Amino acid sequence: VFRAPIKDQLFVLDDLLGAASLAKLPRYADYSPEMSESVLAAAGRLASEVLDPLNESGSREGSRLTSQGVCTPKGFPAAYRRFASEGWTGLSISKEIGGRGAPLVLGTAVEEIGCGANVAFTLCPLLARGAIEAIFIAGSRDLRDRFLPRMVSGEWPGTMNLTEAQAGSDLAAIRTRAVPDGDHFRLFGQKIFITYGDHDMAENIVHLVLARIDGAPAGVKGISMFIVPKRQVRGDGSLGELNDLRCASIEEKLGIHASPTCVMAFGDKDGAIGFLVGEPNRGLEYMFIMMNAARLGVGVQGVGLGERAFQIAVDWARTHVQMAAASGLDSAPVPLIEHPEVRRMLLSMKSSVESIRALTLYAAMQLDRAHGLVDQREATVALSRAELLIPIVKAWSTDQGYNVASTGVDVQGYSGHLGQSDGVQVLCDVRITAIYEGTNGIQANDLVGRKLARDGGAAMSALLDEIEVELRVTDTDDPALRHTKAAVLDAIGTLRNTTQLMLRQWAASVPAALAVAVPYLKLCGSALCGWLSARGAMRAAARLAAGDPDSDFYRAKLQSARFYADHVLPQVRDWAQICNEGAMSVVDAEAELI
Ligand SMILES: Cc1cc2nc3c(=O)[nH]c(=O)nc-3n(C[C@H](O)[C@H](O)[C@H](O)COP(=O)(O)OP(=O)(O)OC[C@H]3O[C@@H](n4cnc5c(N)ncnc54)[C@H](O)[C@@H]3O)c2cc1C
Repeated sequence: VFRAPIKDQLFVLDDLLGAASLAKLPRYADYSPEMSESVLAAAGRLASEVLDPLNESGSREGSRLTSQGVCTPKGFPAAYRRFASEGWTGLSISKEIGGRGAPLVLGTAVEEIGCGANVAFTLCPLLARGAIEAIFIAGSRDLRDRFLPRMVSGEWPGTMNLTEAQAGSDLAAIRTRAVPDGDHFRLFGQKIFITYGDHDMAENIVHLVLARIDGAPAGVKGISMFIVPKRQVRGDGSLGELNDLRCASIEEKLGIHASPTCVMAFGDKDGAIGFLVGEPNRGLEYMFIMMNAARLGVGVQGVGLGERAFQIAVDWARTHVQMAAASGLDSAPVPLIEHPEVRRMLLSMKSSVESIRALTLYAAMQLDRAHGLVDQREATVALSRAELLIPIVKAWSTDQGYNVASTGVDVQGYSGHLGQSDGVQVLCDVRITAIYEGTNGIQANDLVGRKLARDGGAAMSALLDEIEVELRVTDTDDPALRHTKAAVLDAIGTLRNTTQLMLRQWAASVPAALAVAVPYLKLCGSALCGWLSARGAMRAAARLAAGDPDSDFYRAKLQSARFYADHVLPQVRDWAQICNEGAMSVVDAEAELI
C-alpha cells in the first residue's frame, strides 16, 4: 500500500526551499505552508482511496481497443471523474483561465503523489497540463476561450502528437500534412506512440498536433501546431460530430499498461479539422512549452516511482527475518535491514529519492519565481536557471528512479523478481521515463549544446556561485555535517571546472563535447543533489538544535546526507575524469568495428 510521503515533501517545501517566500509575489499571495499541508493531505487521500487501489489491477488489465474506441481498465473512468471534480486538473493553472493558481512547486509535489500511487493514470492529467500551458501562451483569444475552460476543468484532457514512424528524436522529419480550408485546416497523417490518444475517461480529447502546412519550408522551420479535437466544438460550446481521426491500434509495452499508447490516424476521409495555434511554422517552439512542462513531469515520475520502490523494499526488509547479525554476537536470525549490505541498499534508495525530490521541487520553484517575480531581471535569471535544470531533472531523476526500482528488486531477492510483484511493476513502469519526452541522451545534448552553450555557462556559474556562498556561510559543530559540507563543496568545485572544460570542448569540437554529454549530465545531477541533500541536513540540524520533538525524522535526514556524501559524491570525480579524458575514445572509434 503506497503511503503519500507528505512529511518529506513538506520538509522540502517548508524547510529546504522556504516555499513560504512565494507568498511575497503578488501572483501567489494566498500561498502558505498551511495551504500545502491541506492540499497534500487531500492528494494523499485521493491516492490511497482511489489511485493506488487501481494500480495493480490497471496494469494487469491494461487498456484495450474496441469497436467503440479505447477502453481504459475498470475503475479508471470513475477515478478520472473524481480527479477532475476535485479540481486537481487546474491546481497549478493560472486563475485567469479558471485554475486554482497554486504554485507549480505545490502542483509538482501533488503530481509526485499521483505518480507514486498510479503512474499510468497520472500520465493523462500530467500531459494535459502542458497542453493547457501551450494553448494559453500561444493560442488566439478565440481558441483559448473555446478550449481552455473545459481543459482546465478536466472535462477535455489534452494530448501531445509529435512522433511519427520516421520522426522520433528527429522532429524535422515530420510529414503530417495540414491543408488550409477556410478558417481551419484539414490534417492528414499518422502519429505513433500517442499517450492517451483515445480513451473513455472524458467526453472529448484535445489533441495538439505538429504538422506541415502545404508549401512550408523543409525541416523544423516548417512545422506548425494545431488543436485537433476528438469531437467538434460548436459555436455555443456544445459538442458536435466526431472528427476525422481514430486510434488505429494500441501498443504492447514493457510497463504502464493501463496508459493507452496509440497509433493515431488523422484524415482517413476528408481530413481531420484542426485549428492553427499561433503563427504558422512556429509549431516546434510552441510545442516546447508543452514539452518543458512534460519533461519536468517525467522527472517527477522518477521520484514518485522511486518512492514507491523504496517503500516496498523497506517494508520487506523490516519484516523478513533471516540469518544471524554480522556482528556474530547472537545466533538468532535478524530482520534483513540489520545486514550491512541490505542497509546500504536501502540508504542508497532513500538518499537518492530524497535528493531527486529536492532537485525536482527546486526546479519547479524556479519556474514559479520566473512567472511570479515582478522584477524582470530577477525573473529572467530564475527562468534561465529553470531551463538549465529541466534536462538534468528529467534525465537524472528518471535514471535514479530506475536504479532505485532495480535495487528494490534486489532487496526482495527472488520474491522481488516474480512477475506479479509490486516491485517488478515499478521497475517495468519506470523504464519508459528515460525514453519518452526526449530520451535521456537527447536531454544531455540539450544541456550541453543549448543550455550551457547559449549563455557561455552563465546560468550554471550563477547557480554554483550561490551554492558556494551558501555552503561557506553556514557553519556547524557536527563533524559528520562538516564532512558532508566539505564533500559537497569539493563536488561543486569539480562541476565548475568540468563546466568550463565542456564549454571549451564545445567550441573546439561539437562531436567531442556530445560524446561526454551524458557523463557531464550525471556529474551535474549527482553534485546538485549532493548540495540539496546537504542543505536538507543543515535545516534538519537546526530543527534538532531548536529541540524539535520529531527528532527521529530530522536525524534520518542527517543520516541520508552523510550516506550520500560518502557513497554517491565520490562518483563525481569519475564523471569528471570521463568528461576530461573520455571524448576521443568515442569520437575516434570506427563505427564498423563496434
Ligand atoms: C510509452 C510511450 C509513450 C509515448 N508517448 C508519446 C506521446 O504522447 N506523444 C509523442 O509525440 N510521442 C510519444 N512517445 C514517443 C517518444 O517521445 C519517442 O519514443 C522518443 O522521443 C524517442 O524517439 P524514438 O523512439 O524514435 O527513438 P530514436 O529517435 O530512434 O532514438 C534511438 C536512440 O538513439 C538516440 N539518438 C537519436 N538521435 C540522437 C542524436 N541526435 N544524438 C544523440 N542520440 C540520439 C536516442 O537517444 C535513443 O537512445 C512515446 C513513446 C513511448 C514508448
